Amino acid sequence: MKKITRRAFSVLLLALAIIFGMTVFVLRYTDEGSDWALYFASANAGAGGELRDRKGVVLASFDATRYAFSDDAETRVACYHVTGDYWNRSGTGALGAYWDRMQEYSLIEGTVKKEPKSLTLTIDASICRAAWNAIGYNRRGAAMLMNYRTGEVLAMVSLPSVDPINGEAPVADTAFINRCLSASFPPGSIFKLVTAAAAIEDVPDIFNRTFVCEGDYTIGTVDIHCTGVHGEQSIEEALANSCNSAFAQIAVAAGYNSLYDHVKAYGFLDPHELDGIPSVAGAYRTQYAGDPELAWSGIGQSTDLVCPYTMLRYVAAIANDGMLATPRLILTDEPVEQTRLIEASTAAKLKQMMIYNFQTRYMPEIYFPGLYYAGAKTGTAELGDGASHAWFTGFLDDPAHPYAFVVVIERAGSGLAAAAPVANRMLHAAIAAEG
Ligand SMILES: [Zn+2]
Repeated sequence: MKKITRRAFSVLLLALAIIFGMTVFVLRYTDEGSDWALYFASANAGAGGELRDRKGVVLASFDATRYAFSDDAETRVACYHVTGDYWNRSGTGALGAYWDRMQEYSLIEGTVKKEPKSLTLTIDASICRAAWNAIGYNRRGAAMLMNYRTGEVLAMVSLPSVDPINGEAPVADTAFINRCLSASFPPGSIFKLVTAAAAIEDVPDIFNRTFVCEGDYTIGTVDIHCTGVHGEQSIEEALANSCNSAFAQIAVAAGYNSLYDHVKAYGFLDPHELDGIPSVAGAYRTQYAGDPELAWSGIGQSTDLVCPYTMLRYVAAIANDGMLATPRLILTDEPVEQTRLIEASTAAKLKQMMIYNFQTRYMPEIYFPGLYYAGAKTGTAELGDGASHAWFTGFLDDPAHPYAFVVVIERAGSGLAAAAPVANRMLHAAIAAEG
């Protein structure tokens, strides 16, 4: 009896072990089955596919024996951070993110497809090439352009880049990082667009107030330096002048809680996604640290960090009456999804102020020949060692060309001199691409 009991117990243990093993297998299969069946290094069962841009330009193609990219070197490099590669080295490329979808992977039957399957992206390779060329070989930076009515991302470029056909060859330092999605930078004066929104909503008489700039503005014992001596200004003039003295005062007038709440509500502290591909969070002080720090934070310095994609979402919503059309990377006929990011009246005011900036300060006849209906903001984010990141972000206020854009170039100096020409060439390429 004792022996039988012991045997029964052993059988029970064995059964439990089998059940446990099966459970682990099923869970792992469900979780990782697609990786097992499709992992890049393994044969892909005769399945082939193509990754295309919105015009049908092939960015990457593969079958059982061959992993290929565009034949055009400039397209490969300019589109690398969109396409990624078969080894998923960038971590945010479409080949890695959408590999299962391109294989028509089935959990029950494994990989069953016979016909090559293509996936069409919202990207236009010609706009990516224009942006990549405009930034230039030896600079580091990011440029994005999206249609703010549909959410379609038309260009996403990051430098330094990689030519994926070179396989294991060494690449430039940090070249695998997609600076559009996977990096955040000190924003400098583009952050005044957020401070302005806080003031519009939480300083009741903001449009009747004036702010004096005598070159420097002193809070306590801290001097905030301005690039000019702007005198007495309204908030509109202060934004157009990008006046640090005025925006230091505007940030303090709005108060820490208002600034923090707006930074948070507009998504600057959160990671986001672009059709399933993740972006990184930004940063802003999570506690009040005195008025001087509040003033610095309101002009985009202090501990502020902004991901270019998050800034693009914000200016796209400003251009689109405060509504954010959910950004897309995969071309689809599905209806545009929209959510409110900014109050309509606030967005309308910011839009008007950005158009005023563009028309009165950014010399459109020189920097943007042929582009008259635009709104924008420059940023020159000081890094504390004499260098600055150059930013330029904005939109075309034109129903035929509803484009929002962001450009950041690392250690390139002034936003208007260094980043605006990249935006100009990217916008002209976008208009030309509609042909
Ligand atoms: Zn000033």
